[in-house]
Parts: sequence; C-alpha cells; structure tokens
Amino acid sequence: MQKGKIGVTTENIFPVIKKFLYSNNDIFLREMVSNAVDATQKLKVLASVGDYKSELGDTTVRVSVDKKNKTITISDHGIGMTKEEIDKYINQIAFSSAEEFVEKYKNDVNAIIGHFGLGFYSAFMVSNRVEIKTKSYINDSKAVHWECDGSPDFSIEEIEKDIVGTDIILHVDDESQEFLEENRINELLNKYCKFLPVEISFGKKKDYKDGKEVETDEDNIINDTKPAWTKNPADLKEEDYNKFYHQLYPSIVEDPLFNIHLNVDYPFHLTGILYFPHIKENIEIQKNKIQLYSNQVFVTDSVEDIVPDFLTLLHGVIDSPDIPLNVSRSFLQNDSNVKKISSHISKKVADRLNEIFKKDRSEFEKKWSDLRLFIEYGILSNEKFYERAKDFTLLTNTDSKCFTFDEYKNIIKENQTDKDGNLVYLYATNVDEQFSFIENAKTKGYDVLLMNGQLDVHFINFLEPKFEKSHFVRVDSDVVDKLIPKEIVNESKLTVEQQNRIRPVFKSRLKKSEVFSVVFENMDENEAPVLITQSEFMRRMKDMSALNQMNFYGNLPDNYNLVINTNHPLIVKIAQDVDKKNDAKLIKFDDELTPITEEKSALEEKNKDKKEEEIEQLDKDKTKEIQTKIDEINKNKDLVLSGYGLKNKIVKQLIDLALISNNMLKGEELNLFVKRSIDLIK
Ligand code: ADP
Repeated sequence: MQKGKIGVTTENIFPVIKKFLYSNNDIFLREMVSNAVDATQKLKVLASVGDYKSELGDTTVRVSVDKKNKTITISDHGIGMTKEEIDKYINQIAFSSAEEFVEKYKNDVNAIIGHFGLGFYSAFMVSNRVEIKTKSYINDSKAVHWECDGSPDFSIEEIEKDIVGTDIILHVDDESQEFLEENRINELLNKYCKFLPVEISFGKKKDYKDGKEVETDEDNIINDTKPAWTKNPADLKEEDYNKFYHQLYPSIVEDPLFNIHLNVDYPFHLTGILYFPHIKENIEIQKNKIQLYSNQVFVTDSVEDIVPDFLTLLHGVIDSPDIPLNVSRSFLQNDSNVKKISSHISKKVADRLNEIFKKDRSEFEKKWSDLRLFIEYGILSNEKFYERAKDFTLLTNTDSKCFTFDEYKNIIKENQTDKDGNLVYLYATNVDEQFSFIENAKTKGYDVLLMNGQLDVHFINFLEPKFEKSHFVRVDSDVVDKLIPKEIVNESKLTVEQQNRIRPVFKSRLKKSEVFSVVFENMDENEAPVLITQSEFMRRMKDMSALNQMNFYGNLPDNYNLVINTNHPLIVKIAQDVDKKNDAKLIKFDDELTPITEEKSALEEKNKDKKEEEIEQLDKDKTKEIQTKIDEINKNKDLVLSGYGLKNKIVKQLIDLALISNNMLKGEELNLFVKRSIDLIK
C-alpha cells in the first residue's frame, strides 16, 4: 500500500470545504453522479469508434444506500481510472494559494467548486471517509483502491476488480445522516439528475402484492435520458410538449398556453423549451420556475441573470453547456455569453408571439388575458422588446374587443382628436365603478379602453410619449365634453351671480368639503345635473406613488371636483329657488357691498402703478379695512346660503346620487340617502 498527501498548498483543505460549503451540501450527489455519467458517456464514445473493444454491457449508473454501514455508493461502468489518473485528477488539486482563495470566495460556494475542479471533493461535505474502487478501460490496467479520511493523507493500493468502471463509496458523517434516508436521496436525484443522459438507478421498482409493498427485480430508473428539449422539434407534437411540461411541474394541472423550442448553435450552444403558463391578472410569486441545465445536469432554478427579467415568469428548461455547471452569481452577471443568451431568448419569444399572432389572430386574442402581463412587463422593462412587440400588443376596449396600436389609432382618429390635434385615448379601469362615465362617452360616439391590468398605470405612462400627439384620459377625470376638448362652447343658463350663490349651497351639504372643489360646466341639459370627477394628473400622481411606495403624493388628500351642470333643469330650478328664497336678505348684503367694493377699486386704481413701499400708509390701512369688511359680508352671505342649503333635500340628494355613481357613498351616508329617498317619494 502506498500513502501520500493530497496536493494542496494549504495544510488541510477539508475542514474549509466543509465549513464554507455546508449550506449547499446537497450538491455532492450531483457531482458524484454527473462524474459517473461523464465516465460512462466517454466509454460509450470509445466503444462506438472502436477504441474500446470489449462488451459494453449494462451501463446503468447505480446509486445505493447502506443504512447499516452508513454508506452511499455510486457505481458506474465508465472509463474508470488508472493509478496515475487518480494521482493526477484526484490527488493533485491543482490550485495555488487555496487559503487566500477560499477566504475571498467564502460566500460563494459554486465559485470555489466550479473554478477549481473540486467537484469530487464535495464528497467530503457529507463524509468522513471516501473510497474509490476503480478499474480503467485501458487493457491490462490494474484496479486500484483509494481511500482518504478527510485529512490530506490518502492511501492507494491495487485490488481485484473484474468490471471496468468506478465505485465511489461515501462514509456519511454524523452530521449528514439525513442522506442515508431513501426519501432524501430520491429528492436529490429528482432535483439534480432527473434528465441526465445515462440511466440512473436507485434501488428496485416497488410493487404491491397482497396489500404490501414488495421490491421487484426491475431497476428503479429515476431519470428520463431523452427529455423533450434534446429532441428535434420536428419530431414533437403539441401533446409531447404538454406531456413534458407536466413532467417538469407535476403540481400544475392546466396545459400551458404554448411553447417555444429554443435551439441555438451559434455564437453559443443553447437548447430548451419555454412555456407560457396561465397566469391571468395576477403576478403571483411563481414557485415553478425556469430550470437551468448544463448538459442535462440541473444547475439552478434561479435564472434571473440568464433570462430577461420579464421572462422569469415563464416556465420550462434552458440547457447550455456554455454555462458551467458550477457558476457563481458574479460570473453570470459579467459573462458576455450569458448576456447574449438573455437577448437571444427575448428575441425568440417575440418572434414566436408574432408568429402565433399572424397565424391565428383569434387564438392569440383568446390567450391575450394571460399573455398581457408578460408582454406589458416585457415592453416596460426592455426597449428592444417594445420594438418587437408593438405590432402584436393588443389594447382591449370596454366591449372586450381587441385592437393593435395601429388599428385602434385609426378607429378613434376621427372622433377623438381634440381641438389642438391631440388624439385622446379614453380609458376606464373598472367597468362597474365607472359605468355612467363610460356610457356618457359612448353616447358621444367615443370608444373606451379597459386598462385594468396590474401594470397598466405604468403602461399608460410608457405609451403616452411613444404615441405621437396623444393623451390617455380616464373617462371619469372630467365631464364628457371636456374629456376631448373641442371648439364648440355651450351657453350657460345660470348667471355668474347665480353660480356664486349656488356654490355655498352645495358646499354646505358636502361631508368632506375640503376634498371637493365645486365647479360649473355648461353641459348638455340631458347629462347628469351633478358629477364627481378626479383630475387625470392628480390621480396618476397618486397611483404612481402608491405603486412606488413613495409617500409624498400618496399622503396628499384625495382631490375631487363636484361638477354642477349649469344647463340641467333641476339645477336651473334650484338656482331660481335660491334667488326667490334669499333675494331679500342677499340684496341687503349686496347693497352694503356695492359702495365699499367701489371704494376698494378706486384705491387700487390710484395705486396701481406704485411699488409696495411707495403706497401711503393711510391707503394701505384703508384697503385692509375694506377687505376685512368685504370678507365679513361675504361670510354672512355664505351663512345665509348654507343655511338654505342645509334645508334643501334636493341638493343633498343630487350630491349623493353623484357619489353613488362613483361608488363613493358608503355606510351611514348611504343609509341616510335611502331613508331620504323614501321620504321624497312619499
Ligand atoms: P471535474 O469533473 O470538474 O473534472 P471532479 O473533481 O469532479 O472535477 O473530477 C476530477 C476528475 O476525476 C474528473 O475529471 C475525472 O477525470 C475523474 N473522475 C471523477 N469521477 C470519476 C468516475 N466516476 N469515473 C472516472 N473518472 C472520474
């Protein structure tokens, strides 16, 4: 027997490996099994070219657990290793200044393992002793037994072994006993080895006999050696793709919307299948993610750095040998191949969507509600994707009709261009809540889009500058005539004085009067007498800040307009009644106001060209005194008018009706409304 020291410069690398790599220790099995698969594939190649002349025989890789002896064995019929090869590949861990390196990368397990060929040594993450029994395929080579107990000391000796290939025996340490459980090993094989290209067997298939579970003679093969993505797309049907989808995600019942088979040879190798899942309106945290493989070995399902952000919501598999098995975060972020992969995938996805759109528009429209989120997200996060997607992205109107950007523009061009030549895109976010506004707009011959998607607030902000001379305006942000301002100006049936009198009347009946501004609009007499609107600008600010969790605008109180239709018969009637009931008192105030207002104007006229410091103190005092008087008289006037308002049931009723139209009348107020309505009918 020969003894030696493992060739690392640091005295003892194993405790270091254990300590730093512990968190990810389940990769050891992947490393052992993929080494076995590599060795098997190599022997198959040698046999196929005639360099290995013996019978290949059974090439299944076998994983077995011996609970009693606390071992896990991985056996293969691969090329094996000669004594010299063990020395070269196993004993000499070819790196210098290990300590310095480990210190630098201690938080990045994969970087350590990957870059320094420590794959085999990951065995020590779970073992206190590892044995290799191996016989090389090379003629007449002697089988050898290597053993190491986790210190840099190893032993190696010749043994008897008939069959070519390698057995790796892991003596599982006390802290890693979980890996002696069949379920745990099954779990690991299922996670990392499910699609390896050589058959892997773990135990025997089980059967039920007389109600009891019994082992059969048949190997329990845990992998599919030819997963769909490795096949030629021409050989696959829709069912095959769907079948593979369910194989990947056994917990999902629904078939995917459609798939994209990726197949790239240049400038990098990449195969894979991506699926569009059903997601409808919600971005849920997806627990079923895209899986990344390297030559059919599972690497990770955190693909954020490889797949463009918006496509991380997709499902499926990507396999690229150009992404090394053990990749580190920083490597992925800086690697130019990875960047190319990302933009390539994004292009492929756009091409495929375009193809489906062109081939079967109605099918595409049917799937639109599921697709929309991906596409809007893609457009928002990736300018290039917008360029590719802008011809098949759809806008949906409140009648559930779909249009491309160009189609929609043509539809609204004639009727929805304002007096300054801007195209106005009207939209609603909730058909029920904004019902009356939508109806009003439709009566005018306008079309209303439904923008109720999760990203639509952002999407509108994005599209607006992209579409030339265009505005997006929510249907309830103004009275219908003002949504799309045109030249025609309506007359008002109320005088300015009447409007000034009505304002405090309505204000007195507003519960949160500080939130509302009372404004007058000369609308059609057939439109609503009173309306509530919220300015597009204010609402967007609030929406955006709510999404960004930036509090400034979010904390602003809501701000609404209470719009009074100056031409509605009920309003005209109220105005007349206000005059009738209050004229006597109000005229008295007006009589007082007239002379002092004149006096004030005279003073202002006299001093209009003077600077503040040139005005005589006497004039200043006088102006102030007059203003105080005017304010007081106006206050008294308002008191009279609010007193009137508080008694006027119709005013309150009209306000409540407007609130109801906007879904803003709740609780006690709603209850009072119902009671008042009954009283009014009686
Ligand atoms: P890597 O696989 O990245 O080269 P490893 O540390 O996993 O690094 O393995 C080192 C080398 O040991 C392999 O390249 C291979 O030559 C050899 N080896 C490991 N396992 C086996 C095996 N089961 N059969 C034959 N050779 C093996």
